[in-house]
Amino acid sequence: MENNRDCIFCKIIEGKIPCNKVYENKDVLAFLDMSPVNRGHVLIVPKKHSETLLDTDEQVLCKIIKATKKISNGVMKAVNANGINIIVNNFKAAGQIVPHMHMHIVPRFSSDGFTYTEPKKKFSESEMQKVAENIRKAL
Ligand code: 5GP
Ligand code: ZN
Repeated sequence: MENNRDCIFCKIIEGKIPCNKVYENKDVLAFLDMSPVNRGHVLIVPKKHSETLLDTDEQVLCKIIKATKKISNGVMKAVNANGINIIVNNFKAAGQIVPHMHMHIVPRFSSDGFTYTEPKKKFSESEMQKVAENIRKAL
């Protein structure tokens, strides 16, 4: 399996750094986040190093999504969660700290008190149409 010598998640995949493993198959490894935001916070990583979702092989992404569904059901049961957030941070500007693609599975509880406080922005209808057009053109 190709890996990156300096990457902490590659070291976990190689068994050089220990983790609390919850699931593994040929393509993915899932383990507990060492600084969980709630009990049962899991990270799912592709075994082959890629930096973000954007440079991850599409077939590998399908494997990650399948594992995410399976593990999310397991986490919900195991910790009696009321909900689940599935999050991928891509690049530093979006809060990515470890540059090896990973899916966060964060169990949520009705009483956990988390709030999303980012203010919503308002754009004019013409600005909205322009940005939608620019995205369509970029695809
Ligand atoms: P990011 O901000 O990159 O999306 O999140 C990286 C996550 O990896 C963080 O939640 C952090 O707690 C977790 N993490 C970083 N280093 C390690 C490690 O060595 N072991 C485990 N289990 N989790 C780690
Ligand atoms: Zn890596």
